[in-house]
Amino acid sequence: AAAAAAPPRLILDLEALQHLDASEAGPLTRYAATIQAQRGDYNGKVLSIRQDDMRTLAVIYDESPTTLTERFISWGVLNPEAKGDVEVEET
Ligand code: C2E
Ligand code: C2E
Ligand code: C2E
Repeated sequence: AAAAAAPPRLILDLEALQHLDASEAGPLTRYAATIQAQRGDYNGKVLSIRQDDMRTLAVIYDESPTTLTERFISWGVLNPEAKGDVEVEET
């Protein structure tokens, strides 16, 4: 369901991200680094990302947004409040 109330934010833990195995976390690490560069936001320990970015990451990881959100939470890189946050638009 979309957008009646503001959805909880998607917040990446950039420090936790650095400690993950690059073979799994590499695409997410590169994506987050790209957003930091675009914003000029290099000092944060966290990075708030767009809902759309989770959908893009789901394509990159070949997962549903729901599954990928749960995986990122289990890795400790995404705030648990994000669970169920991303609107699923299966195509
Ligand atoms: P843009 O999408 O054209 O956004 C231009 C500016 O509008 C942003 O500059 C920011 O000041 C503001 N803005 C747009 N959407 C939001 C929002 O949801 N929240 C806030 N707080 N501000 C918003 P900024 O931050 O310097 O970003 C420059 C460009 O870098 C953006 O141009 C976009 O192309 C890219 N970018 C930055 N952050 C993200 C991101 O999280 N995801 C994606 N996909 N692109 C991003
Ligand atoms: P919040 O969204 O809960 O963020 C809490 C703190 O986490 C922020 O404190 C900031 O230190 C950090 N933080 C969150 N997302 C990012 C990020 O993408 N990059 C970086 N570098 N740090 C991040 P801060 O800056 O004192 O902001 C306090 C509160 O003020 C925020 O709580 C938010 O509710 C609001 N706020 C601050 N800046 C913006 C903004 O550009 N747009 C909007 N919509 N709200 C903002
Ligand atoms: P959202 O697109 O899901 O973005 C969630 C959060 O990611 C934003 O919270 C902001 O912290 C960060 N973010 C996303 N894009 C950018 C960006 O280009 N630059 C920067 N610096 N941060 C970004 P925020 O700011 O509280 O915005 C909440 C929601 O409000 C956004 O959710 C979006 O739906 C809407 N929004 C805010 N500003 C803009 C804008 O300039 N243009 C549009 N189209 N929507 C915006």
